[in-house]
Amino acid sequence: MQKFNYHSHTYRCGHADLDMKDEDYIKEYIEMGFEKIAFTDHCPEKNKIDKRPNIRMEYEQKNEYIDTIKKLKEKYKNKIKIEVGYEIEYIPGDEENLRELKNEADKIILGQHFIYDNNKNLKYIGQSEFSDEELIKYSEYIQKAMKLKLPNIIAHPDMYMMNRKEFGKIENEVAKIICESAEKYDIPLEINLNNIFAKTYYENRKLNNDSFEKQKEKLKNVFYPCKDFWKVASNYNIKVLYGIDTHHKGQIMLWNELIEFAKEIIGKETIEKLNFIDIF
Ligand SMILES: [Zn+2]
Ligand SMILES: [Zn+2]
Repeated sequence: MQKFNYHSHTYRCGHADLDMKDEDYIKEYIEMGFEKIAFTDHCPEKNKIDKRPNIRMEYEQKNEYIDTIKKLKEKYKNKIKIEVGYEIEYIPGDEENLRELKNEADKIILGQHFIYDNNKNLKYIGQSEFSDEELIKYSEYIQKAMKLKLPNIIAHPDMYMMNRKEFGKIENEVAKIICESAEKYDIPLEINLNNIFAKTYYENRKLNNDSFEKQKEKLKNVFYPCKDFWKVASNYNIKVLYGIDTHHKGQIMLWNELIEFAKEIIGKETIEKLNFIDIF
């Protein structure tokens, strides 16, 4: 069982629990027997591109974030290895800033949430319909980020299925573009557990005590992980890991259950073909 997680947020992004301190998450990770974690909060933007409120820390918070996590890394060094980094999005023209963030981070994960549309407005996955052309552009952004060697991990590479009703020709094409690059540049893909959490134990944004069996019935509502995407991925020589994408109190404590559900969705046959990696 994987005992590391490199996808974890803090109150600074504005949409994680505001009353959870960084240290509170660390205590949950230790209680669950984790050996290594990375805080990868939503990155700040030097030049504001994504103007939605409560999505990412302010640029002015950056140093405090890095310093605080580094202090906690030292404080807990005998119990758990802690790294600090960011979840970034690739956007053309922002390469210099992204490289700057990379230089100060132990881990960078790419959680691509948007593209520029033809009028250079941001278009967000999960918020509006993407045309086939826009979906290809989305996968090319991910490809470009890998080519620039920005991310250490691609978070939720199948998130684009939020906008799609079925896994057809174009969805398959997008999966291939992402997987080919992941293989070529040797960058692991993450099976993200956050949407499972949001649709089961955290249905309606509140922890519930429904039984494991009852939670299982809710899996039909989950957008990602996407079974068909991972079936495609299993045909490539790529590395895979789980990421819990922590935003809430109690989320880490459900690690084992959420992984069980991911396996349930993806299917035993594909899971057994995937190349799960060890701590890095
Ligand atoms: Zn988030
Ligand atoms: Zn995330």
